[in-house]
Amino acid sequence: MRPSWQFSACGVCAPRLPRLDRLQAEGYLGGMTHPTDIAVRGTLTPDRPLDGLTWLRVGGPADWLFQPADAEDLAAFLAALDPAVPVFPMGVGSNLIVRDGGIRGVVIRLGRGFNAISCTDRRVTAGAAALDAHVARKAAEAGLDLTFLRTIPGAIGGAVRMNAGCYGTYVADRLESVRVVTRDGQIKMLEASALKLAYRQSTLPDGWVIIEATFAAPSGDPAELATQMQDQLARRDATQPTRERTAGSTFRNPAGYSSTGQADDEHSLKAWKVIDEAGMRGATRGGAQMSQMHSNFLINTGTATAADLEGLGEEVRKRVLENSGISLEWEVMRVGDPLQQG
Ligand SMILES: Cc1cc2nc3c(=O)[nH]c(=O)nc-3n(C[C@H](O)[C@H](O)[C@H](O)COP(=O)(O)OP(=O)(O)OC[C@H]3O[C@@H](n4cnc5c(N)ncnc54)[C@H](O)[C@@H]3O)c2cc1C
Repeated sequence: MRPSWQFSACGVCAPRLPRLDRLQAEGYLGGMTHPTDIAVRGTLTPDRPLDGLTWLRVGGPADWLFQPADAEDLAAFLAALDPAVPVFPMGVGSNLIVRDGGIRGVVIRLGRGFNAISCTDRRVTAGAAALDAHVARKAAEAGLDLTFLRTIPGAIGGAVRMNAGCYGTYVADRLESVRVVTRDGQIKMLEASALKLAYRQSTLPDGWVIIEATFAAPSGDPAELATQMQDQLARRDATQPTRERTAGSTFRNPAGYSSTGQADDEHSLKAWKVIDEAGMRGATRGGAQMSQMHSNFLINTGTATAADLEGLGEEVRKRVLENSGISLEWEVMRVGDPLQQG
């Protein structure tokens, strides 16, 4: 039987799937195009550990990590890659727990070639690898207000995919359009509405890679925008463990201060509050801890495995459910396979 390819992004642990090389040796791949058979201009690395590429510093290897040279290189690679091979685009890993067994298939990480930022009139166009903070700063220098991106530690592709936001403004409020490469290698322009952005989610199909985003930005005075961003940074540092290894808010607020900033999205119950009430502030498992500073932040104190972090998160969910009847939902994405025993 041909094994099925699937990412286990949900909380359920999937058994670890064999590597592409073993599948090929066993004849499963048949006539399918192996990643190394595809000529690329970028870098294709087999068995690439991902822990160094995530904010939490955990995660096993990707079967393949592909860092394309540019959009055409990415499009040609995806067009040639057998559709059965899963493709997972990652940004700078600030919202990810990559499990200890790593990610099967090809992980795409954009770098140089995807980080240009241009500001014209009332618009800012940024490559998907541009850091949110750089985009906010460049926009402010041009008198354009994308200040809400300044304190979010991700890159633009991840910001769009997650509908990132804070202090009342979200990507959904500013995004006009995106350029993507589809899983079968076509370069397309999509209106923002096609992504159906909602609270930390979008309808971008699996395996599609965002390569560029265009935002409409209100104008503002550069000096005032700079001050506003400084204030936001100070506010973060005062309330969140910004110098720890974290992935931001671990769980969604139960009824979410939500993504669009509209009145009907507003709810007041906070995840940190129900975690506190369940006595889980500061709780630990192995090297994982619920931050003392902000109890909805899961941190790697230095030696945590992905299993420690995910296990502690599940323990928190269980205690909160027992204590308040609320079922917390993960905001941090968990991807890949657990480490196989034996
Ligand atoms: C200290 C801290 C504070 C944070 N505060 C906030 C906050 O205030 N608001 C907020 O919204 N988030 C916050 N986050 C979470 C995180 O920074 C955001 O979700 C961010 O947008 C993730 O971007 P990334 O590049 O790290 O994406 P990753 O974590 O690498 O990936 C996240 C998701 O985006 C997808 N993705 C990434 N790049 C692409 C691409 N090019 N094409 C298609 N899909 C892609 C991935 O497949 C994955 O599904 C915080 C995180 C930390 C560590």
